[in-house]
Amino acid sequence: MAEKKYDLIVVGAGIAGLGVGAIAAKEGKQKVLVLDRFPKVGGRMMSYEGYPAKGWRVDIGLHLVELGEQASCTELNERVGKKIEWGPFSKTVDIWNGEKFMDVAQLVPMTREEKIAFRDLLGKIAMLSEAEIEEWDNRSLEEWMNENVPQPAVRELLTDLGMIMTTIPHAIDMAAGEVLWIAKHNLLKVRQALQASYPIDGMEGITRGLAEVIRENGGEIRLNCDVQEIVIRDKKAVGVRVPSMKHVYQEEFRMYETEFIAADRVVCALPIYKLSQIIDFNPGTSPLPRWWVKRIEDIQHEVTGLIGFVFGTKEPLIDPEKKVFYSALKLKHSGFPFQACPVSNFSPDVAPAGKQLFHTDIVVEHEQASDKFERERLLALMWEDMKEMFPGLEEKLEWRLPYYVDGCDGLARQPGLVGNFKPALQAPGIPNLYFAGDTYIGRGLAINGAAQSSMRCADLILRDLKK
Ligand SMILES: Cc1cc2nc3c(=O)[nH]c(=O)nc-3n(C[C@H](O)[C@H](O)[C@H](O)COP(=O)(O)OP(=O)(O)OC[C@H]3O[C@@H](n4cnc5c(N)ncnc54)[C@H](O)[C@@H]3O)c2cc1C
Repeated sequence: MAEKKYDLIVVGAGIAGLGVGAIAAKEGKQKVLVLDRFPKVGGRMMSYEGYPAKGWRVDIGLHLVELGEQASCTELNERVGKKIEWGPFSKTVDIWNGEKFMDVAQLVPMTREEKIAFRDLLGKIAMLSEAEIEEWDNRSLEEWMNENVPQPAVRELLTDLGMIMTTIPHAIDMAAGEVLWIAKHNLLKVRQALQASYPIDGMEGITRGLAEVIRENGGEIRLNCDVQEIVIRDKKAVGVRVPSMKHVYQEEFRMYETEFIAADRVVCALPIYKLSQIIDFNPGTSPLPRWWVKRIEDIQHEVTGLIGFVFGTKEPLIDPEKKVFYSALKLKHSGFPFQACPVSNFSPDVAPAGKQLFHTDIVVEHEQASDKFERERLLALMWEDMKEMFPGLEEKLEWRLPYYVDGCDGLARQPGLVGNFKPALQAPGIPNLYFAGDTYIGRGLAINGAAQSSMRCADLILRDLKK
C-alpha cells in the first residue's frame, strides 16, 4: 500500500475546515489535503447556481450572516488575503404578532422611561468584560434579567432579541453568556444589538476564497471522498482511511475497500453528530477517554433542526427595495419560531429580473426534523401560516421546494453549551488531533462561531509547529 504523506489532513470542506486548511497552507507552509464527501466545497453553506431553473441561485436554506463586513468570517477571509462582497444589511427585523409584521422596536410598547432604560441596558451590555460574560455561560438569560432588568417591557424586548440570536423561544432556555456576547460585539462594532448581511455571491462567496488559498499554496481538495476513519496509533493520529473503490453493491450488501493516507496532523472539521462515524466511540476500544466520548454522545443531538421552504415568485411578493428579515416567536398553525428572508432583495443575482426568491424556515427539535411524517405534517401547517403572513403567496408562486436539516448550526445556545462549555479544539491525550466547526470552542452566531473556531484551531496548529 503506497503511502502519500501530508503535513495536515482536514476532514470536512465547510467554512471551518477550509479556514484551517487555508491558514495552515499559507501561514504555516503546510502541505494540506482537505477531504469532503460532497461533490462541492462549502458544507452547510453551499449554493446551487441555476437551481431549480436557469436564472435562480439557492443556498442551503435561509442564511444571513451576523455582522457582515465586521464578522469573524470576514476576518478569516481577510487573514488569508481574500475579500467577501457584502450586499446591504438587514435594516429591520419584522416580527409577526399574529396579525401583521411589526418592526421589532415597535413590537413591545414602551414608555419614555422604559426606552431610556433599554438604551442604558444596551450601554451596560456593551461595557461588560469577557470575564463577566463568561460567568453567565451556564446560566440563563432569564436569571440574568432577574438580576439586571426590572422593567417587564425591557425584558420582553431583550427576550425577543435573544430569540432571534439563539432561535430558542424562552429566556429560561437561552444561555445568558451567548446572548450578552453577541449583543456586546454587535453594539461595539455596529452600534446595534444585532445586524445581519448577505454576501452578493451567496454563501459560496464566503468559502470560495478559502478554497482558492489552499490550492494557490500547493494544497489539495479531494471531493466525493467519504472519510471512513481517523487512524490513531499509540496516542497519535497518523492519517485517515478513505474509500479506494466504489462497488456496485451498496444498499443491502456493502462491499468496500479503503486506502490509508498518512499525515502528521489531522483536523476533524465535520459536524459533531458525525464524529462517531470516523472515530471509534466504542467503550473499551475507543482511543479517546470515556468522559470525552460520553460528553460528545450527550450533546450531539443538542442541535437546532430546521424545516422550511425555498420558493420563487413570478412577481414580487413584497417590496423589492425592503431589506428585511422576518421572524415570529411562535406561529399559529405550526406552533414554532419562524424566520424568512427575501434573499433577492439583498442580492438581485439570485433570481431572474422581476422575480423574488425567499428562504424560510421554522425552528424545530431534532426529533421533529428527523421524523419524515412529523416533518410533512409541520410543513403543511407552516404553509398555512405563510399564506396568512404573505397575502398573494399562492397566486404569485412560481415554484417551491421543501427542505429539512437536522443539525443546522452547531450546539443549541442553551446554558452550559456555549463559550468554554463547548468541546475543546484538541483531542485529550492525542495532541496532533484537532477539531474545528460551529460546535467547538468559538463565539458568535453559527457561521461566525465556525470561522472563529477555525482561526483558533489554526493558531493551535501553528503554535504546535513551533514546538
Ligand atoms: C438551513 C440552514 C440555515 C442556516 N442559517 C444560518 C444563518 O442564517 N446564519 C448563520 O450564521 N448560520 C446558519 N446556519 C449554520 C451554518 O451554515 C453552519 O454553522 C456552518 O456552515 C458550519 O460550518 P462548519 O464548517 O462547522 O460545518 P459544515 O459546513 O457542515 O462542514 C462540514 C463538512 O464535513 C463534511 N463531512 C461530513 N462527514 C464527512 C466524512 N465522513 N468525510 C468527509 N467529509 C465529511 C460535510 O460534507 C461538510 O462539507 C444554517 C445552516 C443551515 C443548514
